[in-house]
Amino acid sequence: MSDFHCNRCGGTSCSDGASCVPMSNPPVQNKYWEKVMAVTCGRCWTDWKDMEVKIINEYRLNMLEREHRQMLKKFMTDFLDLDGTGKTAELPNEVSENWKPS
Ligand SMILES: [Zn+2]
Ligand SMILES: [Zn+2]
Repeated sequence: MSDFHCNRCGGTSCSDGASCVPMSNPPVQNKYWEKVMAVTCGRCWTDWKDMEVKIINEYRLNMLEREHRQMLKKFMTDFLDLDGTGKTAELPNEVSENWKPS
């Protein structure tokens, strides 16, 4: 995995650059998550999991609702820059204002 490159931190803004390695243990083993794993480091994944909880609480998302799942997926795509646009994540103000990286 020497050519691993995290889209979000690029290995340079990772809080621990030396250990910018691919995330492990994706929620599901499938093609979609393989793609996520290919561009997401463990540290950014941990950051997202924190953010995910806050977003779900803020918007009272119900994972049984298809629309809500899609909304969360959109946030995740932006946050982790899964589409590789290089743009910073556009997160809802009320979430990012209260969010402090752990
Ligand atoms: Zn990263
Ligand atoms: Zn990283």
